[in-house]
Amino acid sequence: MHFKGPCHCGAIHLHIEGDLVEAMECDCPICRMAGFLHWIVDETQVEVRARPGSLMTYRWGSCEARHYFCRFCGVAPLRRPRLAPARYSVNVRCLEGVHPESPPITPFPGRDLS
Ligand SMILES: [Zn+2]
Repeated sequence: MHFKGPCHCGAIHLHIEGDLVEAMECDCPICRMAGFLHWIVDETQVEVRARPGSLMTYRWGSCEARHYFCRFCGVAPLRRPRLAPARYSVNVRCLEGVHPESPPITPFPGRDLS
């Protein structure tokens, strides 16, 4: 299936190919604060189209994870997870036409791992 994942203002557009069979809800502070709901996919499944200068990166702690967000609207549609830095985590809450609770949600104990 093909999914579109824009940020709020549309400066960033993700195009994702894959089957959304599961989402993960992480209990670490940034995921809770941002409301990030994870769909872990391979790099090859995601195409990122971003207006120049819109895609910003927030890094913290060990700096292994990368939290990408839009400079204009602040929405974070994409992540490089610390435990799988070669993959992407797409924010299910940014996917067009997808109710965030439609895929089964698995809790992820990120708070205990940080
Ligand atoms: Zn935006």
